[in-house]
Amino acid sequence: MKGSCNCKSISFTSNQEIKAVVNCHCNLCRKMNGSSFSTYVVVPEYDFSITGQDLSSFKVSENATKHFCSRCGTPIFNTNPRLGGVIIVHLGAIDSQFEISPAVNIFCESQLEWVNKIDGLKRFEQGLA
Ligand SMILES: [Zn+2]
Ligand SMILES: [Zn+2]
Repeated sequence: MKGSCNCKSISFTSNQEIKAVVNCHCNLCRKMNGSSFSTYVVVPEYDFSITGQDLSSFKVSENATKHFCSRCGTPIFNTNPRLGGVIIVHLGAIDSQFEISPAVNIFCESQLEWVNKIDGLKRFEQGLA
């Protein structure tokens, strides 16, 4: 698995097997990432390597630190002291993201009600003209 930020100043690789792929619907992830829900790919910390000088981090809560590119703002991964030994990578930062799909939804108590209905929305192959 390889990944990068949007400006390419940060890149990362992991050669280990993915441990979990999770959609998180919690309010904190929604606020911190600006998205309706967040998809995370959990990999072992072992063998995860990151290159680049522009990685910044922000302690969001007792259980979460968000690591992101300070040049372009792309979220790269989260760490959680309660989940030692793993890196929680933001799906969007992974270059092979189309090959990965989530297996579980968590914090469904705060899931936005319309998320289950997006297949029914009007679709366009590209943006609205
Ligand atoms: Zn960047
Ligand atoms: Zn969350």
